[in-house]
Amino acid sequence: MIDLQQLVRTNIRALISDVDAKAEQTERDAQHIMLDANENPYNKPLNRYPSDNQAAVKEELAKLRGVTHREIFLSNGSTEAIDICFRIFCQPKIDNVVAIEPTCELYRRFARLNDIEYRPVLLDDSFQLSATKLLKACDRHTKLIWLCSPNSPSGNILNITEVEKLLKAFNGIVVIDEAYTDFSRLPAFRERLSEFPNMIVLNTFSKAWANAAIRLGVVYAQEAIIDIFKKVSNPYPINQLTQEQALDVLKHRYDIEDWIKILLLERKRMMLAFESLACCEKVYPSNANFFLAKMKDAQSVYNYLCQKGIKVRNCSNLSLCNNCLRITIGAKAENAEILGILRYYKPTK
Ligand SMILES: *Cc1c(COP(=O)(O)O)cnc(C)c1O
Repeated sequence: MIDLQQLVRTNIRALISDVDAKAEQTERDAQHIMLDANENPYNKPLNRYPSDNQAAVKEELAKLRGVTHREIFLSNGSTEAIDICFRIFCQPKIDNVVAIEPTCELYRRFARLNDIEYRPVLLDDSFQLSATKLLKACDRHTKLIWLCSPNSPSGNILNITEVEKLLKAFNGIVVIDEAYTDFSRLPAFRERLSEFPNMIVLNTFSKAWANAAIRLGVVYAQEAIIDIFKKVSNPYPINQLTQEQALDVLKHRYDIEDWIKILLLERKRMMLAFESLACCEKVYPSNANFFLAKMKDAQSVYNYLCQKGIKVRNCSNLSLCNNCLRITIGAKAENAEILGILRYYKPTK
């Protein structure tokens, strides 16, 4: 079993007990005359600070995911949640984190920003993890293990048995970034909160939910962890317009389901087409809205596409991704465009 108090960084532990000591302010509502926050009474309704606990959005998400609102924390994109994980648990210059490699570059970036040692552990040739290898990289100062499933840039789901082994054997926190899980038809770890007191799951409105502009991330974890997130959070972290738009999306989630279905069909079509291209060596399996393709000369194809006004991600600088491009599934016409243009590609050497 994990000892959550012991895992939390010392100064954060102190801050939390200070927050606890202060009596909790009751939320205000429209019935009150609001003279407590130095707002301007004009320019309704945007003159007021937004709901601080985002009750309405959390209530809808809780219903949808079969969790309670106390197991949800909302952040300014899941990017902010990644930073908060480091700030809650990791003591700069002393603690470290372990992560699969290659993966989303944000974990390394926030480790550096927070002055935390980052220990990448190479996946195998099919981008799968070994719990044993990851655990071997841990020592008594390892606070977090970073996983991403489906993983970026590889696109695959991580082996569920290996992830379970980690969750059971590791005495720190396992963070599972499930940013792409709604593109996969496989069960998600966010549905298993009650089994794992040391698990934090990250979701986002930016990908399957088609709302990158509103910057909304969702953290799922047991109540004890979510409580800490709330106590270290900025005041009013989620702006009013974002909360309103999130509620609107949640009401129209059947549109999202339809878009996902179309994108999955397009993914299949794109991956098959790429496999038949002369410039492509291999396409890796994907459970996300993108796929990784090993090219004969990724840089040259990348340059060619740029000239034609098409942006893809060149992943050649990442471990195990030499000569790989990561291609996002676009709208039907956009996918047809890239395939048409690639049929005219001539190798430069
Ligand atoms: C896009 C992405 C994020 C960032 O999501 P935001 O909610 O837009 O900040 C985090 N993790 C992964 C794996 C992503 O692909």
